[in-house]
Amino acid sequence: MTLFTDFGLAQPILKALTAEGYEKPTPIQAQTIPYAMEGRDVCGIAQTGTGKTAAFALPILHRLNANPKPRRAKSPRVLVLSPTRELASQIADSFRAYGRNLRLTTEVVFGGVTISRQEKALANGVDVLVATPGRLIDLIDRRALSLREIEILVLDEADQMLDLGFIHALKRIVTLLPKDRQSLFFSATMPKTISTLADSFLRNPANVAVTPVATTAERVEQSVIFVQTGRKQVLLETLLRDPSIERVLVFTRTKHGADKVVRGLDKAGTAGAAIHGNKSQPQRERALAGFRDGSCRVLVATDIAARGIDVEGVSHVINYDLPNVPESYVHRIGRTARAGATGHAISFCNDEEKAYLKDIEKLTRLKVPVMPLPEGLPAAPAAGEASDQRREQPLRGRPAPHARGHQGHGQPRSADPNADRGPKRRRGRGGKPGGNAQPQSGQPAGNQQRPAQGQRPAQGQRPAQGKPASGRPEGRRGDGAQVAWLEKSPRRR
Ligand code: AMP
Repeated sequence: MTLFTDFGLAQPILKALTAEGYEKPTPIQAQTIPYAMEGRDVCGIAQTGTGKTAAFALPILHRLNANPKPRRAKSPRVLVLSPTRELASQIADSFRAYGRNLRLTTEVVFGGVTISRQEKALANGVDVLVATPGRLIDLIDRRALSLREIEILVLDEADQMLDLGFIHALKRIVTLLPKDRQSLFFSATMPKTISTLADSFLRNPANVAVTPVATTAERVEQSVIFVQTGRKQVLLETLLRDPSIERVLVFTRTKHGADKVVRGLDKAGTAGAAIHGNKSQPQRERALAGFRDGSCRVLVATDIAARGIDVEGVSHVINYDLPNVPESYVHRIGRTARAGATGHAISFCNDEEKAYLKDIEKLTRLKVPVMPLPEGLPAAPAAGEASDQRREQPLRGRPAPHARGHQGHGQPRSADPNADRGPKRRRGRGGKPGGNAQPQSGQPAGNQQRPAQGQRPAQGQRPAQGKPASGRPEGRRGDGAQVAWLEKSPRRR
């Protein structure tokens, strides 16, 4: 088994990984990091959610740190190209998180926002620049940026780049880069057009890949129970009377919601613990230890907090709230699917969440069977109903699916003050990545569906291809996708 310590990464980076809660490298990391550490070019087939950001960010940070240079105005040492502004921000957040113990700086630039602040940041000098292609060209044309000092280039989500019409920008960018550089190229798919593009960027690359497309959704026995918000707590307590629910991970959308569920369980005499961004590290560790050793049967988590959870034998996942990002649903339910075993996922769905359910079913291409409310389920106390309703109101992140032409009852959207506000990086992609590692050479990935970015814009609001609209992401992402990392990951037994 590969460990992060096997790669020879600098101590401050390993320390940051521990702080992030990463225990083991994911398959794409295990494959990519050794080559990237050697300075080799890499051509990777990997989808979002496989941990590919760390696969390139960690060796890059290590190499910069090992060979320190004074920062030069307008001349970054590393350029990471990303098709969308959300992804660019997330990548920059990751560089900052993994490099938190290093003296390196990361800046992100994308279109749709004022350029002068970005010009200023570049003038001060940055080590790592994450950019969308359009804004990068603008900055070059305004002489606010030079690519002459680039030592390492990353081209992320190459297939999306082409879909979004960035080919000309990329062709121009490659001519401005020093020939003597390291290039790391990632794409979820590798049809001919992409491999031709890869050839223009790479020199004798090492090929790495993880298998695409999760079948998790098919392996997990799923059901949905339609229930009013105010009766969710009592429904949970009723379900937990079933002893076959041995070890259950309950997901709520908010930190506040997680605490509230635990308080309710406590009153009902069920041992539970909450794990979320407001909990201290010792509190999280205690909760996890209890969950692992069985003294605590119920762990209530937000998506972000669940990211670092690596517990075997989770018999059930209960979605107390349905996620508004359908990929999160797949990440969540994957927690229960162990090798050879079928997990169970039960989702509570109120009227407003019905639209999210539709999105989930569209993503997984599976209809979630409806389970009736247990007979004799007590009515909810009126007060609980009222406070829950208050919490139910705002949903944050991706705009409500109604905006994309779904029918729905309510129109929940806007920011939720209670939502777990982790770094953007982790939002909506909450789960633990993995993917079935398969060293690959020349094997086409086919036209598999791609996982969409957690916070992608609603379809109706996306800019036309290659035409970034002001204030919107520079690119858009494809619809309908499955998530790669869930499939038979060795980390998910
Ligand atoms: P990415 O594919 O880079 O978007 O990563 C998906 C998610 O996995 C992100 O939330 C990362 O923070 C997280 N992640 C990346 N590597 C690891 C790891 N080795 N262990 C646990 N989580 C990870």
